[in-house]
Amino acid sequence: MKNFLILIFCLICGMTAKAEELQLKSPDGKLLVTVSDANGRPTYQVSYNGIPFLKSSPLGLITNIGDFSKEMTLQPDARFGTVDETYSLPTIKQSKVHYTANEAVFSFSQEGRTAYDVIFRVSNRDVAFRYKVYPKKQTLCCIVKQEATGFVFPDGTTTFLCPQSKPMGGFARTSPSYETSYKADDAMGKNGWGEGYSFPCLFRNNDKGWILISETGVDSQYCGSRLLGHENGLYTIGFPQEGEMNGNGTSAPGLALPGETPWRTITLGETLAPITETTVAFDLVKPLYEPSRQYQYGRGSWSWIIGMDGSTNYEEQLRYIDFTAAMGYQSLLVDALWDTQIGRDRIEKLATYGAGKGVGLYLWYNSNGYWNDAPQSPRGIMDRAITRRKEMKWMQSIGIRGIKVDFFGGDKQMTMQLYEDILVDANEYGLLVIFHGCTLPRGWERMYPNFAASEAVLASENLHFSQGSCDAEAFNACLHPFIRNAVGNMDFGGSALNKYYNAKNEPRGSRRITSDVFALATAVLFQSAVQHFALAPNNLTDAPAWAVDFMKQVPTTWDETRFIDGYPGKYVIVARRHGDKWYIAGVNAQKEAVKVKISLSMLSSGTEVQLYTDNELLQGSLKGMKLNKKSEIQLSIPCNGGVLIVN
Ligand code: CA
Repeated sequence: MKNFLILIFCLICGMTAKAEELQLKSPDGKLLVTVSDANGRPTYQVSYNGIPFLKSSPLGLITNIGDFSKEMTLQPDARFGTVDETYSLPTIKQSKVHYTANEAVFSFSQEGRTAYDVIFRVSNRDVAFRYKVYPKKQTLCCIVKQEATGFVFPDGTTTFLCPQSKPMGGFARTSPSYETSYKADDAMGKNGWGEGYSFPCLFRNNDKGWILISETGVDSQYCGSRLLGHENGLYTIGFPQEGEMNGNGTSAPGLALPGETPWRTITLGETLAPITETTVAFDLVKPLYEPSRQYQYGRGSWSWIIGMDGSTNYEEQLRYIDFTAAMGYQSLLVDALWDTQIGRDRIEKLATYGAGKGVGLYLWYNSNGYWNDAPQSPRGIMDRAITRRKEMKWMQSIGIRGIKVDFFGGDKQMTMQLYEDILVDANEYGLLVIFHGCTLPRGWERMYPNFAASEAVLASENLHFSQGSCDAEAFNACLHPFIRNAVGNMDFGGSALNKYYNAKNEPRGSRRITSDVFALATAVLFQSAVQHFALAPNNLTDAPAWAVDFMKQVPTTWDETRFIDGYPGKYVIVARRHGDKWYIAGVNAQKEAVKVKISLSMLSSGTEVQLYTDNELLQGSLKGMKLNKKSEIQLSIPCNGGVLIVN
């Protein structure tokens, strides 16, 4: 009887409590976000052209000053506005961006007090939102113990995800470092290896379209997050694992109040074009400081990818400086163990020698530290300001161009602080920064002007380490433009022209099964303003002249990027523009050759183009041709092969 009365009471309350429902549309009116407080639960849903892309999905935070995921009231007086901004960012997929969006600030209250606003921005291809949490009386800080924030996908949605590793695993207990394999077109309802998935996360809404979930604006003021999978199409924001960084630091972030969380981003559309072309990771953030100098991006080489640790010696680095100069490249990355195998005195000599040939040096550093066992030196320098700044002052004095810092392993707020501190100090000494064994950069290209790129992918080192990675090279290449590389610069270190991953290029170890045109195409498909290609001095004589010539002229900065065709994990064709030159690059991972007719509307009919193609035996060739009246071109890309068109 008592339960029955409670049920009746709840039904009456449910009927009388008026649920508020407010909406925000994109500038073109196609993207629609609906925010609600039905049953006291803050939710939002997203549709495109009237088709649901995200069903009613949870919002809210559980903090140590209150549970703000339930018993919440949406205030009816949302504040609406527009955003119209133009900015330049030469390091990303598009050098000049015009970002227009509609904005709404939805306030949620509890017990008559505004607990937080949810700030939504909706452009024609992206939805983004974040929380602004308010003080509670005299309490001016809080711990966010958990986010209710989630994403509920329509039934039948399939996933393209890579699992987040467990903490303190992998090489020398350095994980998670965003180096796991993707599964394409998988069913929902799983949770990776038990720890969810690394951002960004791609979903296919049946035959209706595509959705990429990620986050941006993550810095020392919050932690990085991951996506946890549940039943019934629900994925929720997950904080870092307790065990990351050997258990040091909290997994729950602290927030000064009033304070804002990072942006959660949802990029979607009927095709993969919005995802390939999105700049949402950069649209929503602002530079956190001024660059201390005009930074030089560009191309370079590194001996380690072919020669491994033993190649970090003085003579080999001299040889690579000569090779780098011969390619017309600007930098040489001197990898791990240079401190013991070369020494600081001779690094100074190398820097001077390189400067004489227009080649600057990047130096490798270990990030640790007391949080993993990675033994490669130099260690114990980048983990604290005292040693780091002294080292950077020395680097500045000998003209070092940048640093590559490796082995982080985690997304805790303390780890984000370390990334930020390294970047800030490096800027003071005029150094560019590349991160390896690391997290995904979340808007960092714009936030930190001296940030160059991050790995956060199963990169070229794995091609050296295992034949399995070589066998899956094309599959992975067909994923990155739609997932990892869609939201940030990707330091892959690839485009090898060696047949074998060893310094003599002789038949032992890992064998490259992709074509030379494929290697060239990935130099365009894999975007990063700083690229150290896996080319070797022997390629000047043992690789085709047309391939070496292309690698001599391929740019690393782009004015525009356009999706042409493709399907994640199967094949991809993307066009990028540098000045008035277009580079249309494609690769294929499917057993059957992909035969497509593409329309190059960016080039007028009669344009002379250079066409790089493979035959069925993956033998590449270069020929000139004139585009027909419709600027259409019929392509056939064999398995593990590529195509390139350059005007
Ligand atoms: Ca790595």
